[in-house]
Amino acid sequence: MCDDGPMSDSFTALVLRETDDGPVGALEELTDADLPDGDVTIDVDYSSLNYKDGMALTGKGRIVRSYPMVPGVDLTGTVVASDSPEYAVGDPVISTGWAVGERFWGGYTQRQRVRSEWLVKRPDGMSALTAMSIGTAGLTAMLCVMAIEDAQVMPAEGPVLVTGAAGGVGSVAVALLAGLGFEVTAVTGRPETQDYLAGLGASAFLTREEMTEPAKPLESERWSAAVDTVGSKMLAKLLAQMRYGGVVAACGLAGGADLPTTVMPFILRNVRLQGVESVMTPTPVRDRAWARLGRDLPADLIDSMTEIVPLSELLERGPTILDGQVRGRWVVDPSG
Ligand code: NDP
Repeated sequence: MCDDGPMSDSFTALVLRETDDGPVGALEELTDADLPDGDVTIDVDYSSLNYKDGMALTGKGRIVRSYPMVPGVDLTGTVVASDSPEYAVGDPVISTGWAVGERFWGGYTQRQRVRSEWLVKRPDGMSALTAMSIGTAGLTAMLCVMAIEDAQVMPAEGPVLVTGAAGGVGSVAVALLAGLGFEVTAVTGRPETQDYLAGLGASAFLTREEMTEPAKPLESERWSAAVDTVGSKMLAKLLAQMRYGGVVAACGLAGGADLPTTVMPFILRNVRLQGVESVMTPTPVRDRAWARLGRDLPADLIDSMTEIVPLSELLERGPTILDGQVRGRWVVDPSG
């Protein structure tokens, strides 16, 4: 750590350092001189906790490519220094994806320096807290919904399914789809979250067990569209239950990375399996998705899915996301 900045420049960050026993994290006092290269420096208002952050905090899945690392794949804050013509001091900005928190230093800090091409402007009227309640999980959910819209599936065509519904991506997907007028069935392994999911707009529920029973190549047609955050047997099951011409937006692997399915849903029911990836999404698509999120997600729903976690508790509490125990979204407050 450098010590050439004046004390008033110092700020707190969660830093992961590699040891013989794997990565070990601690809160450290840094100065601007410690920050990586980049053309925009940001005072961070909030970050968030995503599944990938849980992996980074525990060293699982080799998410972090080099140490020391300030994890946190999301951040939002205010520009305090800029060499970019795109951003001026005082601009509210959001960064998600682009391997921030994996290859590049991320949001678990009070200040960060990033590349301007990773940023989007925070939509007018969207608070910093709301932006991080949404974060990568919400952006991914929006991209899934946009994939369903691109396939021109309409609410009148029948119910839609969201898996891993009480998680971050799932919660935002339920709220967005219900808000668009779809009849949403939520798959959850946590029956105690049903009231919460009903509050977001889900009107029917399936258990994780029901949706992980071995799938026949084709089953009764049920879903006009689906957002899948789970993968593996659950994705195979819902593919077998898709209606003719339905679309599945597949973005996650909370239940496993395999896919034990057949070609039958594709060749006999014209089912479309659309992958969704939020890390390298081009900026014009991000801008559209964030504008939609600003318009389509009511503040009371966002509040109901959000818990604020101080940076000081993240090392202890963050890894629980890997056990599927986080409900909705955790926003990380770097000042706490
Ligand atoms: P969360 O942990 O918040 O949500 C995952 C949910 O999946 C859990 O809450 C739980 O929901 C369910 N779940 C957990 N374990 C299992 C299991 N073994 N079998 C079936 N269901 C399970 O994570 P996120 O919402 O942040 O991410 C969800 C997935 O999407 C992850 O796999 C993540 O890597 C991926 N992702 C992909 C992105 C992309 O760009 N493609 C971006 C962001 C995330 P419940 O209790 O309701 O059953």
